[in-house]
This record gives sequence, C-alpha cells and structure tokens, in this order.
Amino acid sequence: RAPMAKSKFEYVRDFEADDTCLPNCWVVTRLDGRNFHRFAEQHGFSKPNDDRALHLMTKCAQTVMQELEDIVMAYGQSDEYSFVFKKKSNWFKRRASKFMTHVVSQFASSYVFYWKDYFKDQPLLYPPGFDGRVVLYPSNQNLKDYLSWRQADCHINNLYNTVFWMLVQRSGLTPVQAQDRLQGTLAGDKNEILFSEFNINYNNEPLMYRKGTVLIWQKVNEVTTKRIKLPKETEEKEVEVARTRTKAVPLHCDIIGDQFWEEYPEILAD
Ligand code: ATP
Ligand code: ATP
Ligand code: MG
Ligand code: MG
Ligand code: MG
Ligand code: MG
Ligand code: MG
Repeated sequence: RAPMAKSKFEYVRDFEADDTCLPNCWVVTRLDGRNFHRFAEQHGFSKPNDDRALHLMTKCAQTVMQELEDIVMAYGQSDEYSFVFKKKSNWFKRRASKFMTHVVSQFASSYVFYWKDYFKDQPLLYPPGFDGRVVLYPSNQNLKDYLSWRQADCHINNLYNTVFWMLVQRSGLTPVQAQDRLQGTLAGDKNEILFSEFNINYNNEPLMYRKGTVLIWQKVNEVTTKRIKLPKETEEKEVEVARTRTKAVPLHCDIIGDQFWEEYPEILAD
C-alpha cells in the first residue's frame, strides 16, 4: 500500500487513550443483550427458558471463537456470554477496545445472520444490540472465581424463574402474586415448592438451564465426502474422508468445583 504521508492533522491521533491490557492477565470480555426482557417478550420466547434463543447464543459464541484469535474458552447463560483470552495474547497489542468491539460486533452480526436457522418462521422484528466490557484477572483463582460467579448467577436466576413461571403458568398466579409468594424464600423453600406443588425435582431439570453453556476447544472427527479421480480410473468417484478438526464444543457442566479444571488442564496452561 502507498506510504502514509504525515499531514498536519496527524497530531489528533495523540488524543486516543492508551487502553493496553496489563500483561500476563486473563482478559475476559462479557457481552449482554440490551433490554432482552422486552426482546424476549416481543419475539415470543418460551418461559423460563427458550431453547432456540439459548442455542442461537451458543452458535454466535462459537462463531466468535472461530473467527477471532486467542480465545481459550467461553461461558454463557441467558442473554450473556463471557470470552476468556489467553494470558499471553498479543492480539491487537492487547488493546481493550479491540477485544471488546471485535467480540461484540462479531456476536451481534452473527445473531442476526443465524437468527432464521433457529427461529424459523418467527421473524426478527428489530435489530438487537449487546453491551460489552473487559475485565482483567491476574490469577487463575480470580478467573475461576469469575466464572463461578457467572455460573452461580445462572443457578440462582434459573431456580427463581423455574418456580416463578410454574406459579404463573400452572397455578394461574399473576406475576405480582408469584413475586410476592417468592419474596424472601431461600433455595430450599423454592425446591420444596417445586417438589410438593409441581412434582418437579429441580435437579432433574435440563443441565443447559441449570449450568449454562461452557465452550472449550476439542478435537472432533469429521467425515466429509470428496470427489477424487484414482490414477487408473477415468471416472471421478465419491470417497469418504475422515479428518480431525478443532472445534468450540458446548458442555453443560459444573465449573465451580475442581473437577472441570482437573479434566481440562490445558485451558489454564500458557
Ligand atoms: P483492519 O482489520 O486492520 O481494519 P482492513 O483490511 O479493514 O484491516 P482498513 O485500513 O480498515 O483495513 O481499510 C479498509 C479497506 O477496505 C480499504 O483499504 C479498501 O480496500 C476496502 N474498502 C472499504 N470500503 C470500500 C469501498 N467502499 N470500496 C472499495 N473498497 C473498500
Ligand atoms: P439490560 O439491557 O440491562 O441487560 P435486560 O432486559 O437484557 O436488560 P437482563 O438482566 O440481561 O436484562 O436479563 C435478560 C432477560 O432476557 C431475562 O430476564 C429474560 O427475561 C430474557 N431472556 C434471555 N434469554 C432468554 C431465554 N433463552 N429464554 C427466555 N428468556 C430469556
Ligand atoms: Mg478502515
Ligand atoms: Mg443487566
Ligand atoms: Mg441483558
Ligand atoms: Mg443478562
Ligand atoms: Mg478495517
């Protein structure tokens, strides 16, 4: 490309703030849907958990991991996803605004791009937006605690929402009545309401709802068909070729205890 001539206007670049992320820290970018309470209502999300919406969120997060550099894992629930960049990443010289804007814009455009694959004949009524932030965590323990915090939030909200919507949908309470009924109740009380009034054992609810979604890189075997021409033959033939590819694979497991980190030590390795 043509060499850049310095103009007298160049000095304005110095007004840009330095937002380089501190070296050696985990860079976490979290995004969250803007006003998704309303978005869910307008697009007829089923309550408390719409599978289409959760799967679309995960598809977008997989796209982010595949398109961008240096993401080691992601965790999502509800209308949010967190992405963890490796400690040593030097992507865009570790500029926070680059991490944040690339993650959020890739996610948002994917949400619109893949919408129809998940929502079929439910049209997208208006363009959704997402906010983003970047937080640095200096130790592995801080990073684990961050992810534990998000998964604990998923659990608390899902337990509440599961009872709340049972009271509304099955017992015919108004939202205000259901809210009053749950005011001041502890986890044990909510489990008890679910069990005694609705015959639901909360622990048997789908893992995706209770634990959210973890995305980690895994080698997967893929079988594709290829058309090839063998040396001694004249016609092209279809053959099956197996190859291993590294993909961002969804898991719905506990990440608060040690087991997950013991099973996948490569996530925290340099
Ligand atoms: P980066 O990811 O670093 O921004 P880039 O390839 O987007 O890389 P830019 O400096 O942003 O680099 O330049 C944008 C490029 O996109 C231009 O150099 C040009 O090649 C192309 N481009 C953008 N808009 C147009 C347009 N309207 N018509 C033709 N080419 C365009
Ligand atoms: P803000 O702009 O402050 O984030 P918000 O309305 O998006 O406002 P959140 O705290 O982010 O508030 O909550 C997201 C809301 O989106 C949930 O309370 C729920 O109503 C809805 N929602 C998101 N995902 C789903 C889903 N898969 N199924 C059903 N409802 C969902
Ligand atoms: Mg440009
Ligand atoms: Mg919020
Ligand atoms: Mg939101
Ligand atoms: Mg949210
Ligand atoms: Mg550009």
